Amino acid sequence: MGGGSAPDAAAPTRIIFLGPPGAGKGTQAGRLAAERELVRISTGDMLRQAIAAGTALGRKAAPLMERGQLVPDELLVAMIRERIARQDCANGYILDGFPRTLPQARSLETMAGADGFTVFDIEVPRDVLLRRLSGRRWCPRCQATYHVETSPPTRPGLCDWCSTALVQREDDKEAVVKRRLAEYDERTRPLIEHYRARSTFHRVDGNRPVEAVLLDLQERLGAAS
Ligand code: ADP
Ligand code: AMP
Repeated sequence: MGGGSAPDAAAPTRIIFLGPPGAGKGTQAGRLAAERELVRISTGDMLRQAIAAGTALGRKAAPLMERGQLVPDELLVAMIRERIARQDCANGYILDGFPRTLPQARSLETMAGADGFTVFDIEVPRDVLLRRLSGRRWCPRCQATYHVETSPPTRPGLCDWCSTALVQREDDKEAVVKRRLAEYDERTRPLIEHYRARSTFHRVDGNRPVEAVLLDLQERLGAAS
């Protein structure tokens, strides 16, 4: 599946995760970030934090996220522009959930250059996505993610890291999931065409155990980068 050469070992590692909701982007981005000492930038987590903090951005994003719609490009672009300019991104970063539209992808190229990104498109069959999303549980305090069957917390219903009660995300409920998958098909899937011709684009089979997917990503990134 896919293929291509690893980026220049001396350049910062910058990674984009594409893939539908539930594909495992956050899970893999978290693992890779920890193993490679990279910053993970999850736009979904940043927006949920903005909602919890009651900021102007959070107030604009909340009704859209509740309905499973994307948040306007200009808000996301401003958020990412500010985030990737911070010092901790100098050695590389992983974008988890951005870009999600063609205008976002073009803005990223203006901000950070068109080259130098490794793109992982994680593919998972729709019925598996639905099972993953309905079983996903989330810690509203530290944002850790679990699955009731495939990666349950040690103590039922409680976060392993901070003991907070786990919840189901409102947008993981069935009616909203349908809308999110439709948004993905209409607005995010076209990004595959945008990136596919690049040598650093990789289509990855995400319908395997977490460790197997991670190993595949590590191999494609190359041991040196
Ligand atoms: P995304 O960030 O793409 O929406 P997540 O990483 O949050 O997806 O994963 C969605 C759900 O599926 C979570 O509950 C997670 O624990 C579970 N999950 C992730 N990767 C796998 C995998 N390879 N096998 C089984 N379950 C997985
Ligand atoms: P996620 O946690 O990645 O599943 O994102 C949850 C929700 O946040 C999405 O359904 C969107 O409403 C919003 N969101 C996250 N990233 C973006 C983005 N790049 N563009 C627009 N909306 C986004």
